[in-house]
Amino acid sequence: MYVGAESQVQTSGGSSLTEKFPVNVGVHQGNILSPLLFNIFLNDFNHVSPNDSAPSIFKKKVSCLLYADDMVILSTTASGLQESLDHLDTYCNKWGLEVNAEKSHVITFRKSKKLKTNVAFYLQGNIIRSVENCNYLGFNLHSNGRTDLLQSTLVAKASRALFSLYKMPGFKNISIIQQLQLFNSLIKPILMYGSEVWGIHPLLTHLKKHNNYIFGSLFNRWSAQKVATRFCRNILGLHSKAPILPMLGDLGMYPLYIDILISSVKYWMSIMSKGKVDSLVYQAMLEAYSINTNTNIYNATSGLHDIVNYFNFPEIWDNLGGSNIYMTSTKLKKCMQLDFVKYWYNEISNQQHSRYLFYHQIKTNFNFENYLNIDSHKLRSCITRLRGSTHTLLVEKGRHLGLKREDRLCSECSTLDDENHFLFTCKKFSAMRHLYFEKFDPTVLLNLFQNGTIKELINLAKFINAGLFT
Ligand SMILES: [Zn+2]
Repeated sequence: MYVGAESQVQTSGGSSLTEKFPVNVGVHQGNILSPLLFNIFLNDFNHVSPNDSAPSIFKKKVSCLLYADDMVILSTTASGLQESLDHLDTYCNKWGLEVNAEKSHVITFRKSKKLKTNVAFYLQGNIIRSVENCNYLGFNLHSNGRTDLLQSTLVAKASRALFSLYKMPGFKNISIIQQLQLFNSLIKPILMYGSEVWGIHPLLTHLKKHNNYIFGSLFNRWSAQKVATRFCRNILGLHSKAPILPMLGDLGMYPLYIDILISSVKYWMSIMSKGKVDSLVYQAMLEAYSINTNTNIYNATSGLHDIVNYFNFPEIWDNLGGSNIYMTSTKLKKCMQLDFVKYWYNEISNQQHSRYLFYHQIKTNFNFENYLNIDSHKLRSCITRLRGSTHTLLVEKGRHLGLKREDRLCSECSTLDDENHFLFTCKKFSAMRHLYFEKFDPTVLLNLFQNGTIKELINLAKFINAGLFT
């Protein structure tokens, strides 16, 4: 198959091909033989590379990690690392291998910002570049051990995908439910990539410092939520400062952290259920926990332990492999959702948040609202804006102008210019009210927000549109 192998490159134009050139070294790009050959060649490297400076997991030295055709050499000291690189050099010379120095990096994980000494590392006569962060298996590792950079990389990728989604022909004309489905199947997986590993990190400092809080109140700590929030604002036709909680409430959409944390919990349970006591991941997770117990250094495993305690699911932690992953994680997810709804309800009913006063009056359950089934983006957006106080009534506009609440009065009626005033009593809209509602009755009208039929809700939206947005 490789005798006289030749390749050509297809140019960006599409149909034209370059001249053929011989392939004398390596395998074809993407060839499935590549990982197998790599495994065969490197099979004994780990065994012939004893390195005292290698880090250990439960007393087992781990000097090197191999995956597909990637290799990671680990050491706790600079001299130990150079020793391993020299060893790799000898090994490669013996077996006729060449390491791509351009694609190789050294990363020094540490607490301090700067490296104390600027040490150079060499392999096959080339300097290996030291970097602050690098990409390993699609995972952005940073020398400070934090996952912020990885998360911001995922946010940037998902934002680009979201932009393409908006440009998809007909996206604006499909229903909100279909738009949410597209988000869940196309954007969410990008945001959640590797969340089994980084999911708990954004919580760590908070869990460590605070004991009494509602877990749901931390929903905005995950940067992935920013993308989801932006998406909600877009499909609901709201500006960038519109408050998040009414949006989530109207869509019946739970924050992303619930899925993110559930993925971490399922990962933990699946590693534990396999009971592979010799598996490195299993041992590393347990060791991380024992480090926390002994030294009080907080990490993802101890964070997981706190979550399990908070929601009172000891079986996830204690009953190693004994509980059904699907059933237990579904139950935990339900608890996290209830916890969030509790936080959401406390917030919208908190009298100190005057912005939610009207919303609290018309919304009691965290569920998808019927008015969002109105076909017209413009009309349903009118209702969304009135519900969540992102309109032009003085009760809201006055907040930005620095007016005291009691001074935000309607110019015509000299009473508080709020949503109830606009809907039921303002003289400016008397004629309009009778135009859109056959029999005008404040109680019936208020009830429309929760129980209106689509036809009634369209009339309501038209009234709001005519009164506030035209
Ligand atoms: Zn008025």
